[in-house]
Amino acid sequence: MSKSFDRLKSALKKLPGTGIKSAERMAMYLALENRADAAEIAESITAALGRITPCPECFGLSENGQPCEICSDKSRIPDIVCVVEKASDIAAIEKSGAWRGKYHVLGGKLSPIKKIGPDKLNLASLARRAEESGITEIILALSNDIEAEATCHYIQERVAAPRGIRLTRIGFGLPSGSQLGFADSGTIKSALESRKAF
Ligand SMILES: [Zn+2]
Repeated sequence: MSKSFDRLKSALKKLPGTGIKSAERMAMYLALENRADAAEIAESITAALGRITPCPECFGLSENGQPCEICSDKSRIPDIVCVVEKASDIAAIEKSGAWRGKYHVLGGKLSPIKKIGPDKLNLASLARRAEESGITEIILALSNDIEAEATCHYIQERVAAPRGIRLTRIGFGLPSGSQLGFADSGTIKSALESRKAF
């Protein structure tokens, strides 16, 4: 047996949805069966970590501290922002092709139990954006649970209402507590189309 192999296996097990068996199979593949792929994967992870940064405007995926492709795209609706919990939600919505406006990644949801207060989320930047970019509508594309509910109320009271911004929430074709990343394109599309005033 090999200590390095065990370390690789433990590291791979940290990947989302990876159990001990898959981690072991992947470690075996990388360490013994296909070392060229392993080198390519290792190199691309290092390169990505060096370049990928959160977009300074929406906190989605970008590179080298520059605004992301969506924020830089002049053809997109500039004054309607879709608020999501995670950067991966943007990918899910983009894949559905249902949205041509901008995004804002909160980086989580308010939760007193997990000690996540407003200062831990990208809320101050949302308020700043709302003011500086003349946002007219904020679409809440958060999951359907108590933490999301609290987050939506906070945005209503502190960001939207004081500035007269229309606040809407995506329709719930999505099951309770579901995550956007697991919803299919059709569901995301109809959830956006059936958004209602919050
Ligand atoms: Zn951006």
